[in-house]
Amino acid sequence: MRYFPAFFDVAGRDVWISGGGALAARKARLVLRAGARVTFWGAGPDAEVRSEFGDACAYRDRPVGVLRPRPALVIAASGTAGDGRVAALARAAGVPGNVVGAPGDCDFVVPSVVERGEVTIGISTGGAAPVIGRRLRERMEALLPARLGALVAFAGARRAEVAARVPAPGRRAFWERVLEGPVAEAVLDGDEARAAEGFERALSGERQPGHVWIVGAGPGDPELLTLKALRAIQEADVVLHDNLVGNGVIELVRRDAERVYVGKRRGDHALPQEEIGALMIRLAREGKRVVRLKGGDPYVFGRGGEELDALRAAGVSATVVPGVTSALGCAASAGVPLTHRGLSQAVTFVTATAGRGGAPDVDWGALARLRHTVVVFMGVSRAAEVSASLTRGGLSAGTPVAVVERGTMPDQRVLRTGLAALPADIAAAGVTGPAVLIIGEVAARAEATEIERILEAA
Ligand code: SAH
Repeated sequence: MRYFPAFFDVAGRDVWISGGGALAARKARLVLRAGARVTFWGAGPDAEVRSEFGDACAYRDRPVGVLRPRPALVIAASGTAGDGRVAALARAAGVPGNVVGAPGDCDFVVPSVVERGEVTIGISTGGAAPVIGRRLRERMEALLPARLGALVAFAGARRAEVAARVPAPGRRAFWERVLEGPVAEAVLDGDEARAAEGFERALSGERQPGHVWIVGAGPGDPELLTLKALRAIQEADVVLHDNLVGNGVIELVRRDAERVYVGKRRGDHALPQEEIGALMIRLAREGKRVVRLKGGDPYVFGRGGEELDALRAAGVSATVVPGVTSALGCAASAGVPLTHRGLSQAVTFVTATAGRGGAPDVDWGALARLRHTVVVFMGVSRAAEVSASLTRGGLSAGTPVAVVERGTMPDQRVLRTGLAALPADIAAAGVTGPAVLIIGEVAARAEATEIERILEAA
């Protein structure tokens, strides 16, 4: 170990920072968060620093020969040769010093910091590669729940009570159960009432009830998951998924979690909807943390509402985590702005297929008259009806259409065509995978891929 990691308590104590520019300001912000009194020292601080920190800091414009009153720490951040002298002065006075960017002159180094309430993580690369330290920090920022600090506070506030009510031999196991189970999840979800209730139950020795997260998995690219979805996936005991969920997302499921494929390709209904509901209820009642992964967003043609109703009716606690709907994912990855000044001032998401594959109750004539962007879900097998209905409603035969198949996945294909040619072009290109039809002037901007070349060659 090149450095001994430790945390300084500087609350209410003096920290002197030499310099008065952007570098010094950055250090000052960090030190102030730890409750220290900051003095900018040396060449006067620039106007920006003065206006940012104002009376929150002290300023000593003249160079000083002695450190008095003796500060707890000195940070040399002027970026000039004077920094080395400052460090030498601090060392002579027995005050730990840091010179920004010169690890050789430092008594201590300042790590990259990740903060979550009482939790502070410092990352040091021994000064060798601060950029790597910052990259690591970004990854941790993404991985650690935003409310981790709240969880620590929740546990801290109950330490005494647990010490009084849970005998010492089982106390640690108790905390492990509580801090890795549904109580912790409830705190991280921001649901203090559910957390407090679960905690009481745990204290009285009752078994923890399970919980179901209905999670939007996005259109396929795992990087489009929300941080909340990622956390749910990585903490689930059981994950139920169907064929719309991308493989890259499934790979993020915890290794020892159970994965259940519940199907739903057209025609292949691995499990009927009622049985999916019943399965979720049974697993939750066994105390499992269940994630129901759904392609795109659960509330956009995803039957998320029905599943939530079934869970609520059974008294199972459940949370819905939104996802990037395929309409948005496909638009972005095909280069189609769904609204665009001068082209379209609104957008409608509509399904072309109702339950059991029939025609939905949609007023296509009204959509045609609005002349804005229409994104059609489940439209591939009913492209002829969509095309005919919108044409009858008054859209011209040449209205641009972009067909985005398996959007955001590695094998995404984009077909650019027109409303009248749509059914024939879909057949000619052999579009079979899940696809959205983006209809309207904005679709002309689609960056078409290989499908179009196939059609041109035909
Ligand atoms: N809840 C989902 C929609 C489910 S309905 C969402 O918000 O995206 C199923 C339809 O979604 C498919 O028929 C197709 O139209 C669309 N779809 C889902 N994933 C897709 C993808 N990766 N690329 C293109 N369309 C997709």
